[in-house]
Amino acid sequence: MALLTTEALVLRGYKLGETSKILILLTRERGKVRALARGARGVRPRYQSALEPLSEVRVTLYGRQGAELLRLGQAELVHSAFRAGTRSLEAALFLSGCAELLDAFSAEGEAEEKVYRLALAVIRAAEAGTSPQLLGRYLEAWLLKLHGLYPPLDHCASCDAELAGGALSYHRGAHGFVCADCGEATGPDLTGEARRVLDDFFHRPPEALSEPSGAVARVLEAFHRDLIGAHLERDLRAPRVIREIAREAAP
Ligand SMILES: [Zn+2]
Repeated sequence: MALLTTEALVLRGYKLGETSKILILLTRERGKVRALARGARGVRPRYQSALEPLSEVRVTLYGRQGAELLRLGQAELVHSAFRAGTRSLEAALFLSGCAELLDAFSAEGEAEEKVYRLALAVIRAAEAGTSPQLLGRYLEAWLLKLHGLYPPLDHCASCDAELAGGALSYHRGAHGFVCADCGEATGPDLTGEARRVLDDFFHRPPEALSEPSGAVARVLEAFHRDLIGAHLERDLRAPRVIREIAREAAP
């Protein structure tokens, strides 16, 4: 009997033997899972193009509850990200980065409906032609926020006072933006324009956003990279993750 049938996004696939693949799926019902897809490769691949990265699929999975590796039964393509990826090289790179970020942020076996819907919204917006640069920053901001890692834009991380309008100063020790009274911040500083862009990110759908200036995009990219790096580094120390990596690396 099938363990579950669920919508899922294909995050990546590893070749296994001559004809199989191991897939990392972001499922709507159970978060990230690994599944063995027999017959996914070879002369007459069983699933055709359904298993390409960021394809939205409806899958039936077999295996016992809590198993590390499930088996893929049916996989029906709901929506392919192929068209989004052919818009430009930038779009293709964005989609591959998007799959990687979703993989890094998603916990195995934990459904996160908001993350799933975020991923769909971003892929659709890429397909509709929203710039990869903007979508990249948008996705990072929301993944951080949904995991409680984006510092609040309106309150001081140190004394909780409301932050005045305009530029924001980040302080590493406080893991957030601080007010002028709380003293010298380590940085980085986000300009008033960067703050408005972020505020829009958190209040509008991606297709309603306007492209940030190059300067703002660069500042946000570096800022997000720091926040994500700090998060993933902490995560990598978890023994479960180390075991997983050892398993992936094994021949
Ligand atoms: Zn303060």
